[in-house]
Amino acid sequence: MLNGSADGSHTESHKGGGGTPKQQHSQARQRYRAFCDVIIIGGGVIGLACAHFLQATGMQVIILEKDSIGSGASHANCGLVYTSDILPLCAPGAVTSEILRMIKGSSPLSIEPRLDIARLGWFLRFAAKCNRWHLQAAMRARASALNSSMELYTHLLSKTGLECEWQRKGLLIVFRDQTRFHNYQRTNNLLIPYGMDAEPVLGKDLFRLEPALGGDVYGAWFHRSEAHLRPDLLLESWQGFLKTRKVRIFENCKVEGFEKAGEKITAITTNKGRFLAASCVVAAGAWSRGLLKGLGVNLPVEPAKGYSLTMQRPVKCPGLPCYLFESNVVATPWPSCFRLGGTLEFAGFDLSLNPRRLANLKKAARLYLRDPLGPRLKEQWVSVRPMTPDDLPVIGRAPGWENLFLATGHGMLGISMAPATGKLIAELVGEQRPHIDPEPFSAKRFRTFY
Ligand SMILES: Cc1cc2nc3c(=O)[nH]c(=O)nc-3n(C[C@H](O)[C@H](O)[C@H](O)COP(=O)(O)OP(=O)(O)OC[C@H]3O[C@@H](n4cnc5c(N)ncnc54)[C@H](O)[C@@H]3O)c2cc1C
Repeated sequence: MLNGSADGSHTESHKGGGGTPKQQHSQARQRYRAFCDVIIIGGGVIGLACAHFLQATGMQVIILEKDSIGSGASHANCGLVYTSDILPLCAPGAVTSEILRMIKGSSPLSIEPRLDIARLGWFLRFAAKCNRWHLQAAMRARASALNSSMELYTHLLSKTGLECEWQRKGLLIVFRDQTRFHNYQRTNNLLIPYGMDAEPVLGKDLFRLEPALGGDVYGAWFHRSEAHLRPDLLLESWQGFLKTRKVRIFENCKVEGFEKAGEKITAITTNKGRFLAASCVVAAGAWSRGLLKGLGVNLPVEPAKGYSLTMQRPVKCPGLPCYLFESNVVATPWPSCFRLGGTLEFAGFDLSLNPRRLANLKKAARLYLRDPLGPRLKEQWVSVRPMTPDDLPVIGRAPGWENLFLATGHGMLGISMAPATGKLIAELVGEQRPHIDPEPFSAKRFRTFY
């Protein structure tokens, strides 16, 4: 249906011409002889989720991906569908406590010291959001997207048979430090109104529940209803499913710019030619801000580097995913492999593997697990998460644009929030009643500084 410009044959330049934006759009449609309803930029978990729910409403969808599907942050992350993670990073006191931890060298957070105005602005916004009011509002919004996603995953996986080693066994938040373990009670109290609180597990009960934990562990909080999946498998099988639903995927197809008329995007220019659609969704993860620069959309999405090590399962492999609290490292077991992942490094788009950061993952595992590493390393991985300063994703229409939508900024929760994001985007593009309140996710919130 679309212009089929993957072969670069349509090189004619769109002049933007005269007439109303509607007339210009229809001229462009004729010129290209083909048309699709929605183009999605970015083939990560968010792009695929948007494609899924858009095609389900009968729309014709194209995904443009600069590399290959799932090659960004969605590839080898920890795979948690972490519904109870409703507290934003920008909680009251977060700035002071992280600065203290950074000074002590115990923080998983690292900030490359470089004068970067955008990053500085991001941190100022982050600091401004570390207040009680935002905490409550963000918890409500995050809970709505996370709850909806869990329901949608359950339905989606049973209906489509997507293969991703999905397991819903719960998650352990594991502590070595007694005081920190007890302090978690305060966090847990905040989760009670949402029905997302955990149970404390100590002593023999803990080692019965998770025999892979080492003797130095003090206790854990058990979040029973969490799930986990293998993200690379999810993306592979979802991509296959979408192709059977006539979603067209163009890999190695980098979006370079937009042609516009009035408040409408009229074409998308790529290294493989020009593409046309009635609407466009930017789901380009951490790269979204750069893409939108020419359109006057202010999107404070910063890349934050994270690492993972994937290995064969150790002999005493955990049965449950474990969040190793003091180290901020997640250990995720699947039937096929075992992964350690974490760290939050603000270093721009430098995707080099820092050996010290990788060593820290192993060090953390040794502190908490009896058999911390598998016999053979399968993959060392780094990518960048798309972080917003208020720790809420951006989902909805781009301010100032009629047919441009944003689905980005999912930070540490892109896997967890993907289905709700896709569904909400499909509802907003199709002008249907949204199933969750879209207001907290609107990009309009970045029009003001605070
Ligand atoms: C170590 C680590 C562990 C994590 N663990 C979890 C977890 O347990 N649970 C969870 O929910 N989340 C987790 N996350 C976060 C999660 O991985 C991200 O939130 C999520 O993958 C973001 O998805 P996305 O589709 O927005 O971005 P991406 O997966 O990065 O996809 C964006 C895509 O856009 C493409 N693109 C960019 N620019 C262009 C362009 N100009 N033209 C065409 N294509 C373009 C990119 O190539 C990329 O493929 C983790 C992240 C890391 C790093």
